[in-house]
Amino acid sequence: MRSSSTTAAATPAQLGLPGLRSLGVDLVTISRPQRWTAVGQPFVLLGTAMIAAAQQQWWAVFALVGLAYPAFVGTMHDVIHNALNLGRWNRFWLVVLGLAIHPSATASLATHVEHHRAFPHEHDPESDFVRKGLWHTFLMGWYYGYRESLWTWRNNPETRRALVAELAARHAILIGTLVLVPVTPAPAIVLFSLAGWMVTFPMLAVYLVHDPDDPDPLGATHTAAGWFAPFISLGLYYHLEHHLYPKVPTVNYYKLARRLRPSLLDVGVEVGLRAPRHGAGAPRKYRSRIAYD
Ligand SMILES: [Zn+2]
Repeated sequence: MRSSSTTAAATPAQLGLPGLRSLGVDLVTISRPQRWTAVGQPFVLLGTAMIAAAQQQWWAVFALVGLAYPAFVGTMHDVIHNALNLGRWNRFWLVVLGLAIHPSATASLATHVEHHRAFPHEHDPESDFVRKGLWHTFLMGWYYGYRESLWTWRNNPETRRALVAELAARHAILIGTLVLVPVTPAPAIVLFSLAGWMVTFPMLAVYLVHDPDDPDPLGATHTAAGWFAPFISLGLYYHLEHHLYPKVPTVNYYKLARRLRPSLLDVGVEVGLRAPRHGAGAPRKYRSRIAYD
């Protein structure tokens, strides 16, 4: 796999923070019910949305697709990090989740691995556009998935066959739903609505929780905490903690955040909901608003 960057993200030890062993290795474990809830939830929401669409319950479709998209992104993110301990099925679920929401799961995997390695370097393919502002980030949403695919095509040539196969399968599914419209419009309505949510991805999952211009490694990613955070961040909440310990599954983020809190305070980071303040300058404590408890 070729890399476009020469910098690497700081480790917890380099930032004066404890390793995962000190915080508790139970943080990287997940029970079987938790694992299958994470994998099954997006598809249950998707199926329920299709039933609602078949019965022309449009408000229910709107709400269910709005819940399904963050569920898909959150679970796909866990699978990208191999955090659900799915073993040899990890790749299978990555592709299946990707087919529902994204042009290519292989591209998501490649760009996200590079993101964790390179952020906040300017060559990070997942956050470079954030520097150009909110309007540019909004426009990015319209072609973000294809941009990821193009980056992966150029930088990881060994993945090209998988990229083409996934792009072909994804578009065949979407065209298939259009062919089915005379029989039932439900799959087309639901899958195209889900695809429409992709427009929000750069704003909610990238801009909201990253500030690549902040020179402070502990200020460049934001922690969004609270019950609404999983929805507004598309499942990428507690993002400061996630960048420090990416092997921890989403279901254990809160536990991780609670255990890490004293160590973050020791190095001068007041934990809580970090407001998405772009442009460096504000002291860390002013970027924290809501305590965990
Ligand atoms: Zn990640």
